Amino acid sequence: MALQRVIRAAGPPPPALSTAPTVALELERLTVRYESSVALDGVTCAIYQGEQVAVVGPNGAGKSTLFKAIVGLLKLSAGAVRCFGAPEAVPGLIAYLPQRSMVDWRFPVSVADVVMMGRVGRVGLFRRPGARDRALVAEALDLVKMRHLARRQISELSGGQQQRVFLARALAQEARILLMDEPLTGLDVGSQDMLFQVMEDLRGRDVTILTALHDLQLAARHFDRVMLLNRRLVGIGPAAEVFAPNRLVEAYGSHLHLTVTREGILTVADTCCEHE
Ligand code: ADP
Ligand code: MG
Repeated sequence: MALQRVIRAAGPPPPALSTAPTVALELERLTVRYESSVALDGVTCAIYQGEQVAVVGPNGAGKSTLFKAIVGLLKLSAGAVRCFGAPEAVPGLIAYLPQRSMVDWRFPVSVADVVMMGRVGRVGLFRRPGARDRALVAEALDLVKMRHLARRQISELSGGQQQRVFLARALAQEARILLMDEPLTGLDVGSQDMLFQVMEDLRGRDVTILTALHDLQLAARHFDRVMLLNRRLVGIGPAAEVFAPNRLVEAYGSHLHLTVTREGILTVADTCCEHE
C-alpha cells in the first residue's frame, strides 16, 4: 500500500477530472424534407444532460418536425441525431408528448393505465407489471400531483391534468430525454404554472427537456436556453442573447412586432397558435 503510494506520487500527475457536461442529444446537419418542401435544413447543435431548452419559432418553423425526427417518427433526409452518443434510437430513452390535437383524449382508459403504458417499453408487452412497475407509476403520479385521480378516466380530466398524466407516463418510462410539443397550448395559467412546477421538480434528476412553445416571455423565464428555429437554426443559447432583435426578425420576419420597454424588448408575434 505504502509502496503504491510512493510509486504514484513519483509518476505523472493524475489527469484532471473532466467537468465537461454530458451531451444528451446531438444534432448534426439535421435535414428533413417532405414531398415538396424542406422543413428542417442543416440543424446542428448539442443539448446537454439535465438542461431545459425551449424550442421557439413561427408556425411552420419545423418544431414538430424536429421532435418527430429526434424520436424516429420521421426519416431524416440528411444528417444525424445521436442520443447519448448512440446513432440509433434506444427504446425508452426518449419520451415524446405530441401536440394535444394529435392525441385522442376520449380513449377509455384510466389515469393509472396511461402511466403504466410508460412501463410497457421497459417490461415488454406480455409481462405482467411487477411491484417495481407499480411503485414507479405511483411515484410518477405523486410527482405530478395526480395520484388521487389514479382511477379516473383520462377523458374526464381537464387539459392541464391530462398533460400532467402524460408527463407522469414519461417519468414512469424512466426516459432520460423528454420532448414536449406545445404542452402549454390551451391550458389556463394555473395549469401552465403547475407544469412549470413539475419541470422545476425534475431539475436535479438529470432529465433533459425540450419544449416547443409560442410564448417568448415564458421561454425566457423558465428555460436554461432557447432554440430559435425557422427551418434553419437561427440561434441557440441564453434568451438574452438569442432573442436579439435581428435574430427575432430573421426568425419571424414581418410577422413580428418589436416593442422596446424599460424591462427590455417586448415581442408580439401576430401569427400564433393554430389551436387558439
Ligand atoms: P411547427 O411545428 O413549427 O409549426 P411543423 O414541423 O409542423 O412546424 O411544419 C414545418 C413545415 O413542414 C410546414 O411548412 C408544414 O406545412 C410542413 N409539414 C409538416 N408536416 C407535413 C407533412 N406531413 N407533409 C408535408 N408537409 C408537412
Ligand atoms: Mg408544431
